[in-house]
Amino acid sequence: MSDAARQAVAELAGDLRAWLEYAEDTGAEFLPWEPPAPPPQPTTQRQPAAPQPTRSRPRTQPQITPPRPPRQAPASQGSALDAIRAELGDCQQCGLHQGRRNIVFGVGNPAARVVVVGEAPGRDEDLSGEPFVGRSGQLLTRMLAAIGVAREDAYICNVLKCRPPRNRDPEPDEIATCSPFMTRQIQAIAPKVIITSGRFASQTVLGLDLSMGRLRGTIRSFHSIPVVPMYHPAYLLRNPSAKRAAYEDLLTVQSILLED
Ligand code: URA
Repeated sequence: MSDAARQAVAELAGDLRAWLEYAEDTGAEFLPWEPPAPPPQPTTQRQPAAPQPTRSRPRTQPQITPPRPPRQAPASQGSALDAIRAELGDCQQCGLHQGRRNIVFGVGNPAARVVVVGEAPGRDEDLSGEPFVGRSGQLLTRMLAAIGVAREDAYICNVLKCRPPRNRDPEPDEIATCSPFMTRQIQAIAPKVIITSGRFASQTVLGLDLSMGRLRGTIRSFHSIPVVPMYHPAYLLRNPSAKRAAYEDLLTVQSILLED
């Protein structure tokens, strides 16, 4: 077997393992399996064309495909993000700067095909300066891996760049002040799909005052980029029964990534 084939098999095995681990997390006890379609029968009559869906629908099982090579960032995407970070500087535009250790700007591939937007840094993120590094971050990393997206190939940021005291909910004035930076990050990256993680991120990105129950399970859009609202990993850790819904949402993300 050639080195390239060996590497492809290793990558497929890694994808499969990640998906199985996540499926196990969701409580799955069996794998969905559809018998192969029977071979087409020769026919003399032309069959009418099957109607084409206007939008890819979530799949019921993951597509184990060799991961696409990550998009390479043209210098402009990286430098656009650098410029936004430079403008943020040592931001003191709201009261949150008083309690922060670090501004948590965002991390990942400036040319990511998937951007994940969370709510705000927690304690671990405030200490490290990186979003989603605590327990919920580890679950997020596994969720992305389950659809073949390595954490470092995605771009992860939050609506708020500084930690609210005792992880309280973001205040409207904090969201209004800070969210334009998130908008510019997304515009600079121009991903194929955005995952909004939890109610605050989903409501802020979409400008909708709806509950997570109403928001999730739908594909919305932000500046013409598809948005998949998902339960926050912290919520999933507290409510494991919601992981199945999150898994369906991940399949929706994957189906968008596989479109072209
Ligand atoms: N929760 C978030 O919404 N963002 C983080 O970075 C960490 C936890």
